[in-house]
Amino acid sequence: MKTCATCKESKEITDYHKDKTRRDGYHYSCKSCTKKYREANKDSIAARKKRWYYKNQDVILAKARAKNKACPEIRALYRKKNNSHIKRYRKVYQAANKKRISAYYKKYREENANKVNKARAAWKKANPERVNQGFHRRRAKKKLLPHGLTIPQWQETLDACNHKCVYCGTPWKHRDHFVPLSKEGGFTVNNILPACVECNTAKGALDPFNFIKIMRSQQAGF
Ligand SMILES: [Zn+2]
Ligand SMILES: [Zn+2]
Repeated sequence: MKTCATCKESKEITDYHKDKTRRDGYHYSCKSCTKKYREANKDSIAARKKRWYYKNQDVILAKARAKNKACPEIRALYRKKNNSHIKRYRKVYQAANKKRISAYYKKYREENANKVNKARAAWKKANPERVNQGFHRRRAKKKLLPHGLTIPQWQETLDACNHKCVYCGTPWKHRDHFVPLSKEGGFTVNNILPACVECNTAKGALDPFNFIKIMRSQQAGF
């Protein structure tokens, strides 16, 4: 039995939380008093924890990183098991810390300009498809047009068109906006088609159906 320092009642030892910092190994207040205290001081406790976390952030993160490094299998297993939870958490965290995160990356890029530029160039060289994808996406986004074409969708389109220009049947080279960007054609699965350089250039900002008519009459003329 132990007397609670708050309610002064004598209670079983199991009615107390364990506390390594106390001589007898248990907290000085009973569980129900602790609970009441926590509920009454929710906000200030959370604020204190937050302050403590940020004050010791470097040490905490370093410890966590060391632990992760020491047992990569456990980490991988955890990530696999909690995949959806992690994704959801990350989204919430990123939304809440947008400014802090972008400031962090900005600082990192400035301090490691050489390294970052080198890595970026290497990535671009290794991923020409994605570079092209990003270019078109950003352009459509800037014009507030739909820009959701994904790389798998594009692969499907290419397969469906046998990797040929949809207008003349020669090997494709450009992603053609069927309805041109200038006529509000977005970067979407329904509007992007493979075309050769000649057709893509000749088509330019023309009305797509007009262009096809011209193509047909030219082909018939040969
Ligand atoms: Zn008590
Ligand atoms: Zn063509």
